[in-house]
Amino acid sequence: MPLIDTHCHLSHERFREDLDAVLARAHDAGVTRVVSIASHLDDAAELAGWTEAPPGSGRGGDASPEGRVPRIFATAGIHPHEVGHLPDGPDHDGEVRHVLDRLRALLDHPGVVAVGECGLDFHYDFAPRDTQFRWFDRQLLVAGESGLPVVVHCRAAEDEMIPRVREAGEAGIRGVLHCFPGHLGLLETALDAGWHVSFTGIVTFRSFDGIEAVQQVPAGRYFLETDGPYLAPIPHRGKRNEPAFVPLIRDRVAELRGTTPLEVEESTTAAAVRFFDLPAD
Ligand SMILES: [Zn+2]
Ligand SMILES: [Zn+2]
Repeated sequence: MPLIDTHCHLSHERFREDLDAVLARAHDAGVTRVVSIASHLDDAAELAGWTEAPPGSGRGGDASPEGRVPRIFATAGIHPHEVGHLPDGPDHDGEVRHVLDRLRALLDHPGVVAVGECGLDFHYDFAPRDTQFRWFDRQLLVAGESGLPVVVHCRAAEDEMIPRVREAGEAGIRGVLHCFPGHLGLLETALDAGWHVSFTGIVTFRSFDGIEAVQQVPAGRYFLETDGPYLAPIPHRGKRNEPAFVPLIRDRVAELRGTTPLEVEESTTAAAVRFFDLPAD
């Protein structure tokens, strides 16, 4: 069964030079589908276009032969790092509505399979926390209206995330906590709410302290992701991460769970296909 990279930022500038080669390597590594994650709405618009006509022609010198590229799907949303650039506050209702209407229009694109990534990042705090809360809550509501799942970023904000996941689950909103660091209280809330988690290359780091979460999450409730270009797994740590490295994450997850790479591959691919409602390969 093929693998899916459920979270990669293919439009990141670090892929601009050689995206053809990156996509060909992904395909050769058995990664036949990539969910490319938007960080803001211009990003989402570009990625939506890529779901129809994959970027190509000339990047990386060695153009991908027909059929040697993974199929690309996109998300549309605004990362907590970016929400400080958006209108907010009582005097800006009209502008806020305009941004949300643009988000809704992007979600109508057939290649856009989720809202996100959105969430809370209190590690970097690039935007004021009140602004982060408001833009996260707005995007959760839009996800609820649209019926699409939501891809959620949570860093150093577990206590604030828990009640939001619980409420979203009660409202029928489905989500994934991506780059899941292993907080067991948040895992329990997510599972109760019908949510999923996904694991990146940090599972291969010696410093990774979320092993219990990797072991406890039931099959069918977690996916694999690179979060490329960030967080490259061992032995590529510190270099650019790319979808071709998903097998390294699969193998480490299998090792931690005491199962086979094939079982992890089959269960994560099936779970991601269901969650994002992806068409057959
Ligand atoms: Zn993230
Ligand atoms: Zn991301």
